[in-house]
Amino acid sequence: MAIHLPNRKLFIDGEWRETVLKKRIPVINPATEQIIGDIPAATAEDVEIAVEAAKKAFSRNKGKDWSSASGAYRAKYLRAIAAKITERKSELGRLEAIDSGKPLEEALWDMDDVAGCFEYYADLAEGLDTKQKAPVSLPMETFKSFVLKEPLGVVALITPWNYPLLLATWKVAPALAAGCTAILKPSELASVTCLELGEVCREVGLPPGVLNILTGLGTEAGAPLASHPHVDKVAFTGSTATGSRIMASAAQMVKPVSMELGGKSPIIVFEDVDLDKAAEWTLFGCFWTNGQICSATSRLLVHVSVMPFVLNMHVKSLSSCEAKVGILYVSNTFTTFILYTKALHQNFWTGLSNGPKKLKFLILSKRVVGLAHLSVESRQYDKILKFIATAKSEGATILSGGDRPKHLNKGFFVEPTIIIDVTTSMQIWREEVFGPVLCVKTFSTEDEAIDLANDTHYGLGAAVISNDPERCDRVAKAFRSGIVWINCSQPCFCQAPWGGIKRSGFGRELGEWGLENYLSVKQVTQYI
Ligand code: NAD
Repeated sequence: MAIHLPNRKLFIDGEWRETVLKKRIPVINPATEQIIGDIPAATAEDVEIAVEAAKKAFSRNKGKDWSSASGAYRAKYLRAIAAKITERKSELGRLEAIDSGKPLEEALWDMDDVAGCFEYYADLAEGLDTKQKAPVSLPMETFKSFVLKEPLGVVALITPWNYPLLLATWKVAPALAAGCTAILKPSELASVTCLELGEVCREVGLPPGVLNILTGLGTEAGAPLASHPHVDKVAFTGSTATGSRIMASAAQMVKPVSMELGGKSPIIVFEDVDLDKAAEWTLFGCFWTNGQICSATSRLLVHVSVMPFVLNMHVKSLSSCEAKVGILYVSNTFTTFILYTKALHQNFWTGLSNGPKKLKFLILSKRVVGLAHLSVESRQYDKILKFIATAKSEGATILSGGDRPKHLNKGFFVEPTIIIDVTTSMQIWREEVFGPVLCVKTFSTEDEAIDLANDTHYGLGAAVISNDPERCDRVAKAFRSGIVWINCSQPCFCQAPWGGIKRSGFGRELGEWGLENYLSVKQVTQYI
């Protein structure tokens, strides 16, 4: 079936505009390796125009501009965007699946979360109106002081390919709610739905220049954007290496940055657990979204007494899935790429009163479901296979997977892979793979498990599975990470803060913390 991608230009100042140098980048379907369209490749010349548009929109018309309008005014647009996304959900979900290699079902859930996130920040934008002028208590009666929260200015939002529209929304929604104007630079590997966000903004009549969308290469579009003197903040999600480059360039202008970077997240499975449940959460943590989640469980620490049972369950689950890796036709119309089991799953999360109406999380009721092991592009695919080969050459054992599925000659597919006999000095234990690869080690004591879990430069997510609440509490406190899951792995809610420590970054997205990212605090003190 032919796949038609919308032919989009750059979205600048409320309009579609050709790139100055008329450059484009091909879009490759990762399941077939075929070129299915192209996207604009912005350069420094386009960055100039977009930043100028965002600057104008920030203070176009004093008193009536985006930055000084009420939160309620901005909320109206955020809600309209949410409604449009919901209206176009099935089309956007399909585009996301084809562009990024996600299973269609997963991509559709992402669209619900995108709409939910815009709605959530619409509420927070309204809340800002009532939180202004918070008084500060001073030790002298002759002075009075209060605090204003103001938008930071023009912000650059640079995002990765694994959740293209959702991770863009984690930045766009709070930035716009706060009153900032923005330039979004999505990943060149998966920009299609982010460009569609431009069309959504146009359709709802978002004032020109409030959100501008520049697609293009990191070096040609991302770097000049991040270092532009009129960009007041850079909010970045991506690899630690790129984050560090952006920080170095931002340092020249003392520009604030927030960084959501890579991870090497552990899960500790104690001996007192329901082994079925522990296996489900571990597999889910590692293989959901192809293991291409920054917080993916990539290191399993399992108590030595239950290691054989846990591994047996993992291998059984994966081999029952493996036969079905491949391209499936879903909903009669489209190709999507899922590794599918008959296992039941259920949505146990049906929504929050103050937030997304349909925020969902898939819980595994029987083994593992919905695994997709497709990489977005050939470099990432090659990188994953190279990691596995290096692990072997360093003495690790591939317990299951480790290669491309034999029955598929095209597409960037990798088998779900479990690696044992791993030492803490091996590359596979220390570096982020960003693929469906789990390495396993045993421990004998709680202290040993915690030391192993924390033995990493990263500090994004960490999980503990145990039936002992006191132990869970102790381990949660001992983890050196920004996110901890107890008796689960990966659930994410837009009300709760998200972010890491150490080389996983700093600053927090989501919740009220996400809004604070785009606000500055102004102290006003008066002599009476
Ligand atoms: P990446 O660092 O290669 O690219 C991310 C973005 O940065 C892209 O838009 C890219 O074009 C841009 N970019 C590249 N070089 C640039 C430069 N010199 N200046 C400015 N921009 C530049 O990352 P990726 O491969 O797209 O994403 C995978 C990485 O993202 C993984 O490390 C993953 O852990 C991380 N990630 C983190 C989180 C989180 O919340 N912490 C979430 C998702 C992904």
